[in-house]
Amino acid sequence: MENAKQNFQQLIEQVAYQLVSYIKSSQDGEMKVLRQKSITTLAQEMKLEQYIRHGGLNTESIESFLTTFLDNSQHMHHPQYMGHQVATPHWGSTLADLIHGAINNPMNIYEMGPSTATIEQTVINWMLQKIGWYPHDSLDNFTDRGGSGLITHGGSLANLTALLAARAKAAPDGWEQGVNNDLVVLGSEVSHYSTARAVSIMGLGKQALWSAKVDDHEVLKPESLQPLYQRAIHEGKSIMAVVANACATSTGLYDPLDEMADFCEENNLWFHVDGAHGASALLSDRHRGLLRGIERADSVVWDAHKMLRTSALLAAVLFKDEKAVGQIFQQKGSYLYYEKENPGIDAMPHTLECTKSGIATKLFWVLATEGEKSLADFVTNQYDKTFQFYQYINSQTDFECAYTPESNILCFDYLPCKGNNELQLEIAKHIVERGHFYITSAEVNGRRLLRFSLMNPLTETEHIRGLIEEIRYVFTEMQTGKVKGS
Ligand SMILES: *Cc1c(COP(=O)(O)O)cnc(C)c1O
Repeated sequence: MENAKQNFQQLIEQVAYQLVSYIKSSQDGEMKVLRQKSITTLAQEMKLEQYIRHGGLNTESIESFLTTFLDNSQHMHHPQYMGHQVATPHWGSTLADLIHGAINNPMNIYEMGPSTATIEQTVINWMLQKIGWYPHDSLDNFTDRGGSGLITHGGSLANLTALLAARAKAAPDGWEQGVNNDLVVLGSEVSHYSTARAVSIMGLGKQALWSAKVDDHEVLKPESLQPLYQRAIHEGKSIMAVVANACATSTGLYDPLDEMADFCEENNLWFHVDGAHGASALLSDRHRGLLRGIERADSVVWDAHKMLRTSALLAAVLFKDEKAVGQIFQQKGSYLYYEKENPGIDAMPHTLECTKSGIATKLFWVLATEGEKSLADFVTNQYDKTFQFYQYINSQTDFECAYTPESNILCFDYLPCKGNNELQLEIAKHIVERGHFYITSAEVNGRRLLRFSLMNPLTETEHIRGLIEEIRYVFTEMQTGKVKGS
């Protein structure tokens, strides 16, 4: 075992050394952003079967293994990564992952990780404050007036948790008795699919998610809520929650929160803001206005692994009312939250997860190494740069943006393919196959568009210029039937 200990240190040093140089060469854009080999080839190249059967991943072999592994990963640090809304992780988050991996404190009950649980509650308080809600004066005593919150493994679980709290209010017997067929949720046609899934998981049936009308850019029209309210009365349904996108995943545009809050207040309805991506604009003095009215919500979902530079996963579900957390799972034990005699707070009675990872430490480390202003500047810059790129793309005669961006997500047309969904999709596909850029596409009001989300702080105009050239090149090659992956 002595030997193993020494090996561990050597292995850590080797891994650290390789990671540092990997990140640097990704940032310099020295490799393609993505190279996809077949799964059989990769399994062979990484010698997976051999390692599993016989071991042997050690100080001698690790360099070669890790080189193959890293070469065949998606290079998030590459400035031409502009695909899904996943953070380019800050090194503070990387270190937190390493430390958690070493100490493994699943702190969902306080005694299984007092330091990690304390960081979690402090991070929740920080987020509550950013919304404009009350943090807890004392971390030991949750009977103070204040908001409340939970850290969850991702925004999808957070949305389900928020809707469970909404159900506890609309149908207090629901936990014990189940619910009749009379609850509905109002959202937009483009609510994230985790909302529809949550509604189904809760046994309401997917049809219980009623879609409010959206405008040409899929932003919810607040005036379309009232007719749905009338319909609910007419059909004897009660509205369990109204869900807003802040922002919508496909377009990055924000629903009008303040007007939706008016509607919810007038009718005494639970208002849920799905800010998985866009709640981070709360940090930005320049862009916080997009979230005007968020403080009037009953619950908010906010992912850190999208715009707060932490690795996946880290999300929070936050409640204006401190009692909401205790009502999610109304079963024996939920009183523990308030009447615990041992020190600290146990989150376990209130989370879907039983064992939980110390994920909040990742956000703490990002904040603690840089200070919150730096994270605020990051959000502001990504949003501002997207607006500049929008202007640049619109200045090209053969391109057109579908709308003025509000966040760091932008959808646009390559005009020779405008209105041709298959061709736009094919362009995106070839670009990903060629691997110099990683982008996505999205369907907005039935039209397939090219899409990027600007996650990497290193992406600049030159890279967008390159992307535009790449799209033209790919299209020309498509015309001549010549596209290939180099
Ligand atoms: C990403 C996203 C989600 C899902 O969050 P995960 O952390 O990926 O589970 C939910 N809602 C919106 C609006 C999102 O953008």
